[in-house]
Amino acid sequence: MATVLRASRYIASIGVALGLIACAPGRDTPPADSAQANAAELANAWCAKQPRPVNEAFPPATVSSRWFDVYQVEPGVYALLEARQFQLTISYLIVGDASALLFDTGLGLVPLRPLVEQLTPLPVRVVNSHTHFDHVGGNAEFASVLALETPYTRANQRGFPHAELAGEVAAGSFCGGPPDGADTAAFHTRAWTTARTVADGDTLDLGGRVLEILHVPGHTPDAVALLDRDHGLLWTGDSYYDGPVWLYVPETDLDAYERSIAGLTDLAPALRRLLPAHNLVTADPARLGEMQRAIREVRDGNVKGASESGNRVIFRFDKFSILTSQPLLDGQVGDGTRGGSGLTTWP
Ligand SMILES: [Zn+2]
Repeated sequence: MATVLRASRYIASIGVALGLIACAPGRDTPPADSAQANAAELANAWCAKQPRPVNEAFPPATVSSRWFDVYQVEPGVYALLEARQFQLTISYLIVGDASALLFDTGLGLVPLRPLVEQLTPLPVRVVNSHTHFDHVGGNAEFASVLALETPYTRANQRGFPHAELAGEVAAGSFCGGPPDGADTAAFHTRAWTTARTVADGDTLDLGGRVLEILHVPGHTPDAVALLDRDHGLLWTGDSYYDGPVWLYVPETDLDAYERSIAGLTDLAPALRRLLPAHNLVTADPARLGEMQRAIREVRDGNVKGASESGNRVIFRFDKFSILTSQPLLDGQVGDGTRGGSGLTTWP
């Protein structure tokens, strides 16, 4: 554990040096203050926790990928986990009888479409859980991206430049190094376009499986959850995952987040499983109510947080942490119209 704590400080110093955020060494590991470490220590610390037993309990899909770990979480539901970069981002491919839906396209370090085509020959539409950089990396590879019509989404469609993402591909960000062929020196996300706009309550019929789009603003103005009522499944994006939930960037709106979590909590009794966008490919629907209570306790000042770099504050709970920022706790509201990669902090 001491190694993990030291390592997180190192990645923080990289982030500060680059003028970026101080990253956590894996979204499954809360960031913490500590002494010096080096990149090798950092990589060792969180690599040692891979693969996670919760993920490994699911059968691997019979595909070949040098980068993605692919698990079949449910019949017709594949989790595409990027376990070798510290964000531990998870995209999902949901396959119906007539078409498939790709919920997020990951970091964009390696082409995603060839992997998707190994999993299904059906036409694929893309919906993003939100447009932070780590969920839209492969959007440009797909012709049919469905997106919300928000100023925030429109701004983010321009793509994110290398200068903003450099810390994400620094040496300590990878477990076993970057993927073969990835040009980390020029890593950026490409611009993409919306094929069709969607809105809260819209349904997507994949044939034998209907998915409902829920607009759940808070983490970002364009956060979306995906609901499969018939199968009791809810894809939560970054609105909930086990681990430190990042709720600190200027485009995060805590009032909206509370409302959205309350709405999702109402659905929990009818759910069997959450499928989050980081760390673990499954979570207990009971976590939604716990998060609803936790965020209220945090905002009521009933629990004590620990200060982190970048004006951030972390509040630790049993299965998750809330990583927010002092300006948001003080009631400041950022400009959600200008876009954001997910990697900016308050001054
Ligand atoms: Zn994310």
